[in-house]
Amino acid sequence: PVKLDELEVGYDVPAAIGMPEDEIQTPCLILDLDALERNIRKMGDYAKAHGMRHRVHGKMHKSVDVAKLQIELGGACGVCCQKVSEAEVFARGGIKDVLVSNQVREPAKIDRLARMPKLGARTICCVDDVANVADLSAGAQKHGTEIECLVEIDCGAGRCGVTTTPDVVAIAKAIDAAPGLKFAGLQAYQGAMQHMDHYEDRKAKIDVAVAMVKDAVDALKAEGLDCDIVGGGGTGSYYFESTSGVYNELQCGSYAFMDADYGRILDKDGNRIDRGEWENALFILTSVMSHAKAEKAIVDAGLKAQSVDSGLPVIFGRTDVEYVKCSDEHGVVADPEGVLKINEKLRLVPGHCDPTCNVHDWYVGVRGGRVETLWPVSARGKAY
Ligand code: PLP
Ligand code: MN
Repeated sequence: PVKLDELEVGYDVPAAIGMPEDEIQTPCLILDLDALERNIRKMGDYAKAHGMRHRVHGKMHKSVDVAKLQIELGGACGVCCQKVSEAEVFARGGIKDVLVSNQVREPAKIDRLARMPKLGARTICCVDDVANVADLSAGAQKHGTEIECLVEIDCGAGRCGVTTTPDVVAIAKAIDAAPGLKFAGLQAYQGAMQHMDHYEDRKAKIDVAVAMVKDAVDALKAEGLDCDIVGGGGTGSYYFESTSGVYNELQCGSYAFMDADYGRILDKDGNRIDRGEWENALFILTSVMSHAKAEKAIVDAGLKAQSVDSGLPVIFGRTDVEYVKCSDEHGVVADPEGVLKINEKLRLVPGHCDPTCNVHDWYVGVRGGRVETLWPVSARGKAY
């Protein structure tokens, strides 16, 4: 555990608890705690009302503290993550139910995964190849633990996963027969449709996924194999999985923080999802450090403070100024009327939340203009 009172503001951390927001050192990540809590409660209530478990995606925030809030306030059943190293961080942090929603193939990683139950966490991973089953089984037997396995279906994302029901059944049977492993169900995340602008386009893609998953569930049942978990669903699709009659676990991540790219997609009424459905809770706080040119201000959040793979950040609550360009440590903000002042702080909504969080050490939680919490980005940089 981190001892906050031993950390030096500026050197170790961007802020101190109780500090006014305008004294926070920039650039850094801030969380609007009211908005975050509303998002978490809203998704939790939605899942509950639809009889779904919510296994929140921890790859988005990489934070044990945020995961705990999602369990506490949002009734989440556990977390997903993408890497064994992330899973270890969550398990060590006290999360009791952890799914690596990904393939684990390297011997060293299988060995680490197999040790995870000793940290007190139910440990689940995905499998898309019969050849992986024997390796996982050997790892679990070596450590005297149990690894639960989901067969991963590629239901349109074009990443990992098998695409036919006979393949699903063959892998599931192998898992069921393997000592140290338990067949736990299916992983079927349609990742390629989440960011499609139009609701109807997203629905068309999910209809295909649901049909594939239903076929697999029925075929498994005929073999006497029940799916405890049928998991998938993200911020752009959760309502489809929740009403599919087939899925029973959601895996949403971005809904909690939101980002500029997700904000642009439309709900079924044609409204942007960041205008009512989900609130922006995550911001990069940045300061103006130069205004030597009348029509542009230079801020201290550049490429190293964010990921721009899904577009540039948007300046929250402002239409008079625009973030137009970045280089390593500089952001260029068009300021045609010259309204920005030196040291003025701006809230940037990052283009893409997940990889932005991964380049910061801390979340500064603010409420009512003051710093209320400092949470480490616990699995920051855990890419292995
Ligand atoms: N599930 C899996 C397997 C993912 O890879 C992701 C994100 O890419 C999610 C769920 C969460 O998605 P979102 O951030 O769209 O809610
Ligand atoms: Mn993402």
